[in-house]
Amino acid sequence: MEKKPFVTKAQLEEITKTYPTPFHLYDEKGIRENAKRLKEAFSWNKGYKEYFAVKATPNPYILKILQEYGCGTDCSSATELMMSDATGFSGPDIMFSSNDTPPEEFKLANDLGAIINLDDITHIECVEKTLGFIPKTISCRYNPGGIFKISNDIMDNPGDAKYGMTTEQMFEAYKILKEKGAENFGMHAFLASNTVTNEYYPMLAKVLFELAVKLKEETGAHITFINLSGGIGIPYRPDQEPNDIMAIGEGVRKVYEEVLVPAGMGDVAIYTELGRFMLGPYGCLVTKAIHEKHTHKEYIGVDACAVNLMRPAMYGAYHHITVAGKEDAACDHKYDVTGSLCENNDKFAIDRMLPKIDMGDLLVIHDTGAHGFAMGYNYNGKLKSAELLLKEDGSVQMIRRAETPKDYFATLDGCPMMEKYLK
Ligand SMILES: *Cc1c(COP(=O)(O)O)cnc(C)c1O
Repeated sequence: MEKKPFVTKAQLEEITKTYPTPFHLYDEKGIRENAKRLKEAFSWNKGYKEYFAVKATPNPYILKILQEYGCGTDCSSATELMMSDATGFSGPDIMFSSNDTPPEEFKLANDLGAIINLDDITHIECVEKTLGFIPKTISCRYNPGGIFKISNDIMDNPGDAKYGMTTEQMFEAYKILKEKGAENFGMHAFLASNTVTNEYYPMLAKVLFELAVKLKEETGAHITFINLSGGIGIPYRPDQEPNDIMAIGEGVRKVYEEVLVPAGMGDVAIYTELGRFMLGPYGCLVTKAIHEKHTHKEYIGVDACAVNLMRPAMYGAYHHITVAGKEDAACDHKYDVTGSLCENNDKFAIDRMLPKIDMGDLLVIHDTGAHGFAMGYNYNGKLKSAELLLKEDGSVQMIRRAETPKDYFATLDGCPMMEKYLK
């Protein structure tokens, strides 16, 4: 499949008159259409709710759009909780799915009325000590261990993941929580990341639903929701077939009818905590070619770097690149597309076949809407870019300004030597 940017060269040239590159650009129309489809895919389940994983795209304007489609937020830190609160999410619209949780964050989550999802059995004691009680509604995160396979494909390796409780611990945790006054129970598991198959969610649902039936039978716990968490992926590569969310919703419905309904659990709400699927394809990083270098390889230097998008450097992740205005040109040049960090892994593409790139060309780096801007850091003293929203009417709204040196130096505000740059 061909990957086409959601903006044209003409639009980008207009935008760059006001906003210098690099910047992340989000596609409001795409975000809305996708959120609507997801809601439809699970409309068979009365209590269905998507809790958007804030860490994927922590921007209040984005959260506000998703809120219109009934989404809540999934948080795992104090600042994510604060952003959710400030954006108008409260009570059971917030899921607190953290791990290695600082006790005071349980306190903040509880103060906001968020649903707490415990990553470990020892957190029961931590929560009780911190809050003075166990909340009436509480969830436990499950990790069955081993290897998670679909057909013969290894999807991921839960046995190696730090998250969640073992099967035994789940039973134990439910019993203890029940004794301590919990009334409504939830279950959660995240067993594979960025899956590009319609089978992941239904398979995960089967694991969770079967355990839910046993947990109910053995502990008498009233299970009110099952949280399938994140992990539905997106086709970063042009040859990948995108997930069909309607088929995924239908797949989960089938397992629900097979396992939960006969067990008298036909009132269990299904929750999801998707991040990548909600935003990934609806954001791109726009950057300008500023240098070309001909040494042992052909290099194109751009004005963005791994600070703006870390996934290629961190995971060797593929992000498709389109040279704006050269969508139909032959890809007959082999380039490494690099940023300016003093780190050789600061490359957006290695040995990538692209059209001939001229200095000043605008490059669109695809699928940066989730885990893109958010993973940014400040290595080499590089500054984070602006985030822009391409609205449905074609206008552009800046939803976060670019960092300035003053932002970078802000935490040195007690240092007289830096005064000159703090003004
Ligand atoms: C990261 C995360 C998600 C979202 O994952 P995606 O791969 O973006 O869908 C959901 N839940 C939890 C607990 C997470 O840590």
